[in-house]
Amino acid sequence: MTVTEHLTPTAVGGELPPLQVSHRLDRLRAALADCGCDSLVVANLTNVRYLTGFTGSAGLLLVTQNEALLTTDGRYRTQSSEQIADSGAHVEVYIVDAEPDGEVLRRLLGSPGTIGLESETVSWSTQRRWAEELGADRLVPTTGVVAGLRLIKDIGEASRIRTACDIADRAFAEVRPRLGEGPTEIEFALELDARVRSLGADDLSFDTIVASGPNGAKPHHRPGDRRISEGDLVVCDFGALVDGYHSDMTRAVAVGDVGPERRKMLEVVLEAQNLGVLAVADGVPASEVDATCRQHIERAGLGETFVHSTGHGVGLDIHEDPRLSVRSTATLSAGFVVTVEPGVYVPGVGGVRIEDTVLVTEDGCDRLTLTPKDPVLI
Ligand code: ZN
Ligand code: ZN
Repeated sequence: MTVTEHLTPTAVGGELPPLQVSHRLDRLRAALADCGCDSLVVANLTNVRYLTGFTGSAGLLLVTQNEALLTTDGRYRTQSSEQIADSGAHVEVYIVDAEPDGEVLRRLLGSPGTIGLESETVSWSTQRRWAEELGADRLVPTTGVVAGLRLIKDIGEASRIRTACDIADRAFAEVRPRLGEGPTEIEFALELDARVRSLGADDLSFDTIVASGPNGAKPHHRPGDRRISEGDLVVCDFGALVDGYHSDMTRAVAVGDVGPERRKMLEVVLEAQNLGVLAVADGVPASEVDATCRQHIERAGLGETFVHSTGHGVGLDIHEDPRLSVRSTATLSAGFVVTVEPGVYVPGVGGVRIEDTVLVTEDGCDRLTLTPKDPVLI
Protein backbone atom coordinates (compact mmCIF):
# COMPACT_ATOMS: atom_id res chain seq x y z
CA MET A 1 0.00 0.00 0.00
CA THR A 2 1.39 3.42 -0.85
CA VAL A 3 1.57 6.22 1.65
CA THR A 4 -0.94 8.33 -0.24
CA GLU A 5 -3.64 5.73 0.33
CA HIS A 6 -3.33 6.47 4.07
CA LEU A 7 -3.72 10.21 3.75
CA THR A 8 -6.68 11.74 5.54
CA PRO A 9 -8.53 14.43 3.57
CA THR A 10 -9.24 17.73 5.27
CA ALA A 11 -11.93 20.23 4.51
CA VAL A 12 -9.28 22.94 4.11
CA GLY A 13 -8.12 21.34 0.91
CA GLY A 14 -4.98 19.48 1.96
CA GLU A 15 -4.21 15.88 2.75
CA LEU A 16 -2.90 15.00 6.20
CA PRO A 17 0.02 12.57 6.44
CA PRO A 18 -0.73 9.37 8.39
CA LEU A 19 -0.31 9.10 12.16
CA GLN A 20 2.50 6.71 13.07
CA VAL A 21 0.64 4.66 15.67
CA SER A 22 1.97 1.13 15.23
CA HIS A 23 5.33 1.61 17.01
CA ARG A 24 3.92 3.42 20.06
CA LEU A 25 3.23 0.27 22.09
CA ASP A 26 6.89 -0.73 21.79
CA ARG A 27 7.94 2.72 23.01
CA LEU A 28 5.56 2.26 25.96
CA ARG A 29 7.03 -1.17 26.79
CA ALA A 30 10.51 0.35 26.91
CA ALA A 31 9.21 3.11 29.21
CA LEU A 32 7.53 0.56 31.49
CA ALA A 33 10.80 -1.23 32.08
CA ASP A 34 12.27 2.12 33.18
CA CYS A 35 9.54 2.71 35.79
CA GLY A 36 9.56 -0.75 37.31
CA CYS A 37 6.28 -2.07 35.92
CA ASP A 38 5.77 -5.35 34.09
CA SER A 39 2.46 -4.17 32.68
CA LEU A 40 0.31 -1.06 32.53
CA VAL A 41 -3.45 -0.68 32.59
CA VAL A 42 -4.27 2.37 30.47
CA ALA A 43 -7.55 3.88 31.63
CA ASN A 44 -7.09 7.41 30.26
CA LEU A 45 -9.05 7.33 26.99
CA THR A 46 -6.84 9.92 25.31
CA ASN A 47 -3.87 7.68 26.04
CA VAL A 48 -5.81 4.69 24.69
CA ARG A 49 -6.42 6.67 21.51
CA TYR A 50 -2.75 7.64 21.22
CA LEU A 51 -1.57 4.03 21.62
CA THR A 52 -4.18 2.25 19.50
CA GLY A 53 -6.14 4.71 17.34
CA PHE A 54 -9.41 3.75 19.13
CA THR A 55 -11.58 6.82 19.80
CA GLY A 56 -14.56 5.32 21.68
CA SER A 57 -15.90 6.75 24.93
CA ALA A 58 -15.38 3.53 26.93
CA GLY A 59 -12.45 1.17 27.02
CA LEU A 60 -9.51 -0.19 28.96
CA LEU A 61 -6.13 -1.11 27.49
CA LEU A 62 -3.83 -3.68 29.11
CA VAL A 63 -0.25 -3.59 27.88
CA THR A 64 2.20 -6.29 28.95
CA GLN A 65 5.60 -7.04 27.47
CA ASN A 66 4.00 -9.67 25.22
CA GLU A 67 0.44 -8.60 24.54
CA ALA A 68 -1.93 -5.66 24.29
CA LEU A 69 -5.62 -6.12 25.01
CA LEU A 70 -8.30 -3.49 24.41
CA THR A 71 -11.64 -4.12 26.08
CA THR A 72 -14.69 -2.09 25.14
CA ASP A 73 -18.43 -2.68 24.94
CA GLY A 74 -20.77 -3.76 22.17
CA ARG A 75 -21.42 -0.21 20.96
CA TYR A 76 -17.86 -0.14 19.68
CA ARG A 77 -17.56 -3.65 18.25
CA THR A 78 -17.20 -2.50 14.63
CA GLN A 79 -15.50 0.84 15.29
CA SER A 80 -12.81 -0.65 17.51
CA SER A 81 -11.79 -3.35 15.06
CA GLU A 82 -11.77 -0.89 12.15
CA GLN A 83 -9.70 1.70 13.99
CA ILE A 84 -7.22 -0.85 15.33
CA ALA A 85 -6.79 -2.26 11.80
CA ASP A 86 -6.28 1.26 10.39
CA SER A 87 -3.70 2.20 13.00
CA GLY A 88 -1.61 -0.93 12.46
CA ALA A 89 -1.24 -1.35 16.26
CA HIS A 90 -0.86 -4.97 17.41
CA VAL A 91 -3.83 -5.06 19.77
CA GLU A 92 -6.35 -7.78 20.56
CA VAL A 93 -9.90 -6.46 20.93
CA TYR A 94 -12.25 -8.03 23.49
CA ILE A 95 -15.90 -6.97 23.69
CA VAL A 96 -17.24 -7.01 27.27
CA ASP A 97 -20.87 -7.38 28.41
CA ALA A 98 -21.37 -6.49 32.06
CA GLU A 99 -18.03 -6.17 33.86
CA PRO A 100 -15.98 -3.51 32.05
CA ASP A 101 -12.71 -4.63 33.63
CA GLY A 102 -13.46 -8.35 34.14
CA GLU A 103 -11.33 -9.65 31.27
CA VAL A 104 -8.40 -7.37 32.14
CA LEU A 105 -8.47 -8.66 35.74
CA ARG A 106 -8.69 -12.25 34.53
CA ARG A 107 -5.59 -11.82 32.32
CA LEU A 108 -3.66 -10.10 35.10
CA LEU A 109 -4.50 -12.90 37.53
CA GLY A 110 -2.91 -15.28 35.06
CA SER A 111 0.32 -13.34 34.60
CA PRO A 112 2.95 -12.49 37.22
CA GLY A 113 4.65 -9.18 37.93
CA THR A 114 3.87 -5.64 38.94
CA ILE A 115 0.94 -3.75 37.42
CA GLY A 116 1.10 -0.01 36.80
CA LEU A 117 -2.09 2.02 37.22
CA GLU A 118 -2.48 5.57 35.93
CA SER A 119 -2.79 7.37 39.23
CA GLU A 120 -4.38 10.48 37.71
CA THR A 121 -7.21 8.51 36.09
CA VAL A 122 -8.00 5.43 38.21
CA SER A 123 -10.41 6.19 41.04
CA TRP A 124 -9.72 5.33 44.67
CA SER A 125 -12.61 2.84 44.68
CA THR A 126 -11.34 1.05 41.56
CA GLN A 127 -7.85 0.81 43.01
CA ARG A 128 -9.28 -0.68 46.22
CA ARG A 129 -11.30 -3.26 44.30
CA TRP A 130 -8.33 -4.22 42.13
CA ALA A 131 -6.06 -4.48 45.18
CA GLU A 132 -8.50 -7.03 46.65
CA GLU A 133 -8.57 -9.05 43.43
CA LEU A 134 -4.90 -8.89 42.48
CA GLY A 135 -3.07 -8.14 45.73
CA ALA A 136 -2.14 -4.64 46.80
CA ASP A 137 1.58 -5.34 46.57
CA ARG A 138 1.31 -5.93 42.82
CA LEU A 139 -0.15 -2.48 42.08
CA VAL A 140 2.17 0.44 41.35
CA PRO A 141 0.93 4.04 40.91
CA THR A 142 2.33 5.66 37.77
CA THR A 143 2.27 9.28 36.62
CA GLY A 144 2.78 10.60 33.12
CA VAL A 145 4.13 7.44 31.47
CA VAL A 146 2.07 7.75 28.28
CA ALA A 147 2.07 11.55 28.58
CA GLY A 148 5.85 11.36 28.28
CA LEU A 149 5.56 9.46 25.01
CA ARG A 150 3.10 12.05 23.68
CA LEU A 151 5.47 15.01 24.18
CA ILE A 152 7.22 14.77 20.82
CA LYS A 153 4.75 15.04 17.95
CA ASP A 154 5.33 13.05 14.77
CA ILE A 155 4.77 14.61 11.36
CA GLY A 156 1.17 13.43 11.20
CA GLU A 157 0.39 14.95 14.60
CA ALA A 158 2.18 18.23 13.90
CA SER A 159 0.37 18.61 10.58
CA ARG A 160 -3.02 18.13 12.26
CA ILE A 161 -2.18 20.81 14.85
CA ARG A 162 -0.89 23.08 12.08
CA THR A 163 -4.13 22.61 10.14
CA ALA A 164 -6.18 23.36 13.26
CA CYS A 165 -4.15 26.57 13.80
CA ASP A 166 -4.65 27.54 10.15
CA ILE A 167 -8.42 27.16 10.47
CA ALA A 168 -8.41 29.34 13.60
CA ASP A 169 -6.32 32.00 11.83
CA ARG A 170 -8.65 32.10 8.86
CA ALA A 171 -11.81 32.15 10.94
CA PHE A 172 -10.55 35.06 13.05
CA ALA A 173 -9.44 37.06 10.00
CA GLU A 174 -12.93 36.75 8.56
CA VAL A 175 -14.88 37.52 11.71
CA ARG A 176 -12.65 40.09 13.49
CA PRO A 177 -14.05 43.19 11.66
CA ARG A 178 -17.39 42.48 13.35
CA LEU A 179 -15.86 43.59 16.65
CA GLY A 180 -16.27 47.18 15.47
CA GLU A 181 -20.00 46.76 14.79
CA GLY A 182 -21.15 46.46 18.40
CA PRO A 183 -21.93 42.76 18.79
CA THR A 184 -22.44 41.22 22.22
CA GLU A 185 -19.70 38.87 23.41
CA ILE A 186 -21.91 35.86 22.81
CA GLU A 187 -22.89 37.01 19.31
CA PHE A 188 -19.25 37.44 18.35
CA ALA A 189 -18.27 34.09 19.91
CA LEU A 190 -21.04 32.29 18.03
CA GLU A 191 -19.97 33.81 14.71
CA LEU A 192 -16.37 32.83 15.36
CA ASP A 193 -17.39 29.29 16.36
CA ALA A 194 -19.55 28.89 13.27
CA ARG A 195 -16.69 30.04 11.03
CA VAL A 196 -14.25 27.59 12.69
CA ARG A 197 -16.69 24.77 12.00
CA SER A 198 -17.53 25.80 8.45
CA LEU A 199 -13.83 25.99 7.56
CA GLY A 200 -13.55 22.29 8.26
CA ALA A 201 -12.79 21.80 11.96
CA ASP A 202 -14.33 18.67 13.49
CA ASP A 203 -15.22 20.71 16.56
CA LEU A 204 -14.07 23.63 18.67
CA SER A 205 -10.92 23.02 20.64
CA PHE A 206 -12.64 24.27 23.84
CA ASP A 207 -15.35 26.77 24.80
CA THR A 208 -14.45 30.06 23.12
CA ILE A 209 -13.57 32.94 25.43
CA VAL A 210 -14.63 36.44 24.40
CA ALA A 211 -14.03 38.85 27.27
CA SER A 212 -14.65 42.56 26.67
CA GLY A 213 -13.99 45.63 28.77
CA PRO A 214 -13.87 44.85 32.52
CA ASN A 215 -14.75 41.20 31.79
CA GLY A 216 -11.24 40.85 30.34
CA ALA A 217 -9.89 40.91 33.89
CA LYS A 218 -11.25 37.37 34.30
CA PRO A 219 -8.86 35.05 32.40
CA HIS A 220 -11.55 32.42 31.72
CA HIS A 221 -14.62 34.62 31.32
CA ARG A 222 -17.64 33.00 29.65
CA PRO A 223 -18.98 35.18 26.84
CA GLY A 224 -22.17 36.93 27.91
CA ASP A 225 -24.56 39.59 26.72
CA ARG A 226 -22.25 42.57 27.29
CA ARG A 227 -22.14 44.69 24.14
CA ILE A 228 -18.63 45.38 22.78
CA SER A 229 -18.10 49.10 22.31
CA GLU A 230 -15.59 51.88 21.64
CA GLY A 231 -12.77 51.92 24.18
CA ASP A 232 -12.93 48.20 24.98
CA LEU A 233 -10.09 45.76 25.03
CA VAL A 234 -11.43 42.38 23.85
CA VAL A 235 -9.65 39.12 24.69
CA CYS A 236 -10.52 36.27 22.28
CA ASP A 237 -9.18 32.78 23.13
CA PHE A 238 -10.28 29.92 20.91
CA GLY A 239 -9.19 26.98 18.79
CA ALA A 240 -10.08 24.30 16.28
CA LEU A 241 -10.07 20.53 16.55
CA VAL A 242 -8.78 18.48 13.60
CA ASP A 243 -8.77 14.67 13.74
CA GLY A 244 -8.40 14.78 17.53
CA TYR A 245 -5.70 17.48 17.64
CA HIS A 246 -6.19 20.96 19.09
CA SER A 247 -5.07 24.50 18.37
CA ASP A 248 -4.96 27.32 20.91
CA MET A 249 -4.67 31.05 20.20
CA THR A 250 -5.49 34.27 22.04
CA ARG A 251 -5.56 37.73 20.58
CA ALA A 252 -6.36 41.00 22.34
CA VAL A 253 -8.03 43.61 20.17
CA ALA A 254 -8.39 47.29 20.98
CA VAL A 255 -11.72 48.71 19.79
CA GLY A 256 -11.04 52.37 19.08
CA ASP A 257 -9.02 54.40 21.56
CA VAL A 258 -8.59 52.39 24.76
CA GLY A 259 -6.63 55.05 26.66
CA PRO A 260 -3.07 55.08 28.05
CA GLU A 261 -3.44 52.43 30.81
CA ARG A 262 -4.84 49.74 28.52
CA ARG A 263 -2.43 50.71 25.74
CA LYS A 264 0.46 50.11 28.14
CA MET A 265 -1.00 46.71 29.12
CA LEU A 266 -1.16 45.78 25.43
CA GLU A 267 2.40 46.88 24.74
CA VAL A 268 3.87 45.10 27.75
CA VAL A 269 2.11 41.78 27.05
CA LEU A 270 2.95 41.93 23.35
CA GLU A 271 6.65 42.51 24.15
CA ALA A 272 6.64 39.77 26.80
CA GLN A 273 4.96 37.31 24.46
CA ASN A 274 7.38 38.05 21.63
CA LEU A 275 10.32 37.57 24.00
CA GLY A 276 8.78 34.31 25.23
CA VAL A 277 8.41 32.94 21.69
CA LEU A 278 12.02 33.93 20.95
CA ALA A 279 13.16 32.05 24.09
CA VAL A 280 11.63 28.74 22.95
CA ALA A 281 14.14 26.23 21.54
CA ASP A 282 15.32 22.66 21.89
CA GLY A 283 17.16 22.23 25.20
CA VAL A 284 15.65 25.27 26.93
CA PRO A 285 14.05 24.68 30.36
CA ALA A 286 10.29 25.33 30.21
CA SER A 287 10.65 27.46 33.35
CA GLU A 288 13.05 29.76 31.48
CA VAL A 289 10.35 30.69 28.94
CA ASP A 290 8.04 31.46 31.85
CA ALA A 291 10.75 33.56 33.51
CA THR A 292 11.40 35.50 30.30
CA CYS A 293 7.76 36.59 30.06
CA ARG A 294 7.31 37.10 33.78
CA GLN A 295 10.41 39.24 34.26
CA HIS A 296 9.43 41.56 31.42
CA ILE A 297 5.96 42.06 32.90
CA GLU A 298 7.45 42.56 36.38
CA ARG A 299 9.88 45.20 35.10
CA ALA A 300 6.88 47.09 33.70
CA GLY A 301 5.33 47.10 37.18
CA LEU A 302 2.54 44.68 36.28
CA GLY A 303 3.96 41.49 37.83
CA GLU A 304 1.11 41.18 40.34
CA THR A 305 -1.41 41.07 37.49
CA PHE A 306 0.13 38.09 35.63
CA VAL A 307 -1.81 35.46 37.54
CA HIS A 308 -1.20 32.23 35.61
CA SER A 309 1.60 30.22 34.08
CA THR A 310 3.05 31.06 30.67
CA GLY A 311 1.96 28.04 28.66
CA HIS A 312 1.24 24.36 28.20
CA GLY A 313 1.64 21.53 25.73
CA VAL A 314 -1.03 21.07 23.05
CA GLY A 315 -1.94 17.86 21.24
CA LEU A 316 -4.71 15.31 21.72
CA ASP A 317 -5.52 17.31 24.87
CA ILE A 318 -5.84 21.09 24.88
CA HIS A 319 -3.75 21.20 28.07
CA GLU A 320 -1.04 18.55 28.25
CA ASP A 321 2.60 18.24 29.23
CA PRO A 322 4.85 20.10 29.45
CA ARG A 323 3.76 23.02 31.62
CA LEU A 324 5.63 26.29 31.10
CA SER A 325 5.55 27.61 34.66
CA VAL A 326 7.78 28.81 37.47
CA ARG A 327 7.90 25.30 38.95
CA SER A 328 8.19 23.30 35.72
CA THR A 329 11.10 20.85 35.63
CA ALA A 330 10.61 20.02 31.93
CA THR A 331 13.14 20.80 29.22
CA LEU A 332 11.79 21.63 25.76
CA SER A 333 12.75 19.34 22.89
CA ALA A 334 12.35 19.61 19.14
CA GLY A 335 8.92 18.23 18.26
CA PHE A 336 7.11 19.52 21.35
CA VAL A 337 4.09 21.73 20.66
CA VAL A 338 3.52 24.36 23.35
CA THR A 339 1.74 27.66 23.89
CA VAL A 340 3.27 30.96 24.99
CA GLU A 341 0.51 33.04 26.58
CA PRO A 342 1.42 35.71 29.11
CA GLY A 343 -1.39 38.00 30.26
CA VAL A 344 -2.24 40.82 32.63
CA TYR A 345 -5.58 41.28 34.36
CA VAL A 346 -6.61 44.47 36.15
CA PRO A 347 -10.00 44.38 37.91
CA GLY A 348 -12.30 47.17 36.75
CA VAL A 349 -10.02 47.97 33.81
CA GLY A 350 -9.72 44.86 31.67
CA GLY A 351 -7.24 42.27 30.54
CA VAL A 352 -4.75 41.39 27.84
CA ARG A 353 -3.56 37.92 26.91
CA ILE A 354 -1.66 37.04 23.73
CA GLU A 355 -1.11 33.40 22.91
CA ASP A 356 0.56 31.45 20.12
CA THR A 357 0.84 27.72 19.61
CA VAL A 358 4.41 26.92 18.51
CA LEU A 359 6.33 23.83 17.37
CA VAL A 360 9.73 23.59 19.08
CA THR A 361 12.62 23.19 16.63
CA GLU A 362 16.38 22.64 16.98
CA ASP A 363 17.21 26.34 16.97
CA GLY A 364 13.97 28.03 17.97
CA CYS A 365 10.35 27.44 17.14
CA ASP A 366 7.92 27.45 14.28
CA ARG A 367 4.90 29.64 15.06
CA LEU A 368 1.75 27.77 14.04
CA THR A 369 -0.77 30.50 14.87
CA LEU A 370 -0.05 33.29 12.39
CA THR A 371 -2.74 35.89 13.06
CA PRO A 372 -0.99 39.28 13.43
CA LYS A 373 -0.45 40.17 17.09
CA ASP A 374 -0.54 43.94 16.87
CA PRO A 375 -3.96 44.87 18.18
CA VAL A 376 -6.10 46.20 15.38
CA LEU A 377 -7.51 49.57 16.26
CA ILE A 378 -10.89 49.67 14.65
ZN1 ZN B 1 -5.95 29.65 24.80
ZN1 ZN C 1 -3.64 27.98 26.19
